[in-house]
Amino acid sequence: MKKLFTDVAVIGGGGAGLRAAIAAKEKIPSLRVMLLSKKPLGVGGTTAIACSDRMAFHATLPYTLPEKDNWRHHAMDIYRIGGEVSDYNLAEILAKESADALEYLLSLNVPFARTKDGKIDQFLTDGSIYPRACYVGPETAVEIHRALLRRFKSLDVDLHENAMLYDFIVKEKRVVAAKFVDTTTDEPFCVFAKAFVLATGGAGRLFKRNVFPSEMTGDGYAAALRAGAELVNLEFMQIGICHPHILFASSGSMFRSLPRVVDENGEEFLMKYLSSDDVSRLTELQFKKGAHWPVSYESPTKVIDLAVYAHLEKGHRVFLDFTKNPSYFCPESVPEEILKWSEKVDTRLFSLPTPYERLLKINPSVVEWLRERHIDLSKEPLEVQNALQHFQGGVKINERAQTSLKGLYAAGECAGGQHGANRPGGNSLLDTQVFGKIAGENAASEAQNAHIVDLPVEEEKLTGEIPATEARSRIVELVSRHGFLVRFDDELRKALDELERLEAKGIAKDEKGLTFLLETRNMLTVARAILTAELIRNESRGPHLKFEIFDPPTMKFVPKKDEWNRYIVLRLVDGRLHYEIREPVRPREEER
Ligand SMILES: Cc1cc2nc3c(=O)[nH]c(=O)nc-3n(C[C@H](O)[C@H](O)[C@H](O)COP(=O)(O)OP(=O)(O)OC[C@H]3O[C@@H](n4cnc5c(N)ncnc54)[C@H](O)[C@@H]3O)c2cc1C
Repeated sequence: MKKLFTDVAVIGGGGAGLRAAIAAKEKIPSLRVMLLSKKPLGVGGTTAIACSDRMAFHATLPYTLPEKDNWRHHAMDIYRIGGEVSDYNLAEILAKESADALEYLLSLNVPFARTKDGKIDQFLTDGSIYPRACYVGPETAVEIHRALLRRFKSLDVDLHENAMLYDFIVKEKRVVAAKFVDTTTDEPFCVFAKAFVLATGGAGRLFKRNVFPSEMTGDGYAAALRAGAELVNLEFMQIGICHPHILFASSGSMFRSLPRVVDENGEEFLMKYLSSDDVSRLTELQFKKGAHWPVSYESPTKVIDLAVYAHLEKGHRVFLDFTKNPSYFCPESVPEEILKWSEKVDTRLFSLPTPYERLLKINPSVVEWLRERHIDLSKEPLEVQNALQHFQGGVKINERAQTSLKGLYAAGECAGGQHGANRPGGNSLLDTQVFGKIAGENAASEAQNAHIVDLPVEEEKLTGEIPATEARSRIVELVSRHGFLVRFDDELRKALDELERLEAKGIAKDEKGLTFLLETRNMLTVARAILTAELIRNESRGPHLKFEIFDPPTMKFVPKKDEWNRYIVLRLVDGRLHYEIREPVRPREEER
């Protein structure tokens, strides 16, 4: 197998990978840094192509409220909204470093929106008490990626595109090399480095309904697991209302403008699936969905996600119709709290005749952005579905972005421990920049004092019975049916049994080739890990909704339990998943 050598190898070219490579090179310019990415830069990865109505970058700036000790509030928000199942020390780092992270992006000319007096404009987003969300518009992440890419290209970093990581080589608990396949030729090759940064993002493509780029099959999670690394919080992922075809999350402003939620027949169906109490406060729930976009056990707005899900499961399609008011909407009965919010936008907001006109007031840029994509909300509805949008958990890191394996750092969505069950909106892009930088710098420092361990590398003989195409469709079916929004213990158990049988039989290469086979093998590893974590957590918390009955409006949740204020750490030992329920790093008493 062809071998390449470098000092620091960064795997993944999204926000986290680019930031890590830049940081490694800026810290020690004499080091050889190599970045390898499955898709060409700017073409793949969530950062480079995903959008929402107003994409947020969460940061505590000198003028962010409250005036005193403001980063402590940010850190507590991460920990509190995370359901106390994340490491507080990591939350503290995110909060403290956020102003510098934003400053760095500004130095690269990311055009963040500003107020009339020149400050960075910040709004209130999911899971925060104070407005900290900085933004460019629907394409905040795309702009961040473009700016990082400009800086990256100005540095002397080796770049290998179309390079898919599929395994690590570990010697004496140290990652010494990583195996890749060239996705255009199916040729494997191996990279030896003194330190590695894993920045391969999430595994959205395990689920049928997702807003992830096509290459996001969880290879980083799988390779780390097989190498012996710890993964944490895999049962927590953001699931929200998104467009089914463009990678677009219809969050805050879309719901706050109160569109009709209809099916393909134009029928408003939410009421069918809601209790009479929820129907009577539907305007309020729908508005609040704007500030609780991802589904969460703790938020009463979860019934909207579940109603959409139940209707989709019956074979319907779902749309947000901005041309007319919902039948239950009455301007005179808009709750006081919502009227107060609307005063900042327009005192007559809820007297405007249509949701379209309200959206134009609240967020004109998304109306324009969609029009550029040939969706005119004044005339046609926007199709939506529940979709997987972000993984809260991942490869467990410490304050130095180090994983449980020597020589391996992780950052961005593929890393875990910094976020718990939920995360504040905008904190993920922040995470890519803060821990991307920390991972890159620490990998560079480690590489400076380490040496390459060169070993002979054999090409593996991958044998199995089940053709990869068949195996993949079964894996995706099982994960989507049993591990998505509605989770039952007995169904998870059965799905896991089937995945274990698939693992025992093995996956065979078919006409789609080696890359497809290796991806599918990774998907199987990650599917087993996710469903295991979902089964073990015997409660509902954040997006992890465990049911005894799901027949809306009749729904019986397995309730949240204090004993579960802990996280699940998974490891793969000799092909078997082992778990440990562990106490996270808690805030000190004075921080609470
Ligand atoms: C629709 C949508 C809206 C969102 N809105 C927000 C928001 O408003 N605020 C916020 O903070 N977050 C938001 N997020 C989440 C956030 O965008 C992502 O979590 C973040 O961009 C992930 O960055 P990353 O660098 O970790 O991974 P990515 O940007 O996904 O990059 C992963 C990189 O790894 C590469 N890769 C994958 N597998 C391999 C492999 N096997 N070998 C080599 N390379 C590999 C990919 O090609 C890519 O280059 C949103 C996500 C979506 C989908």
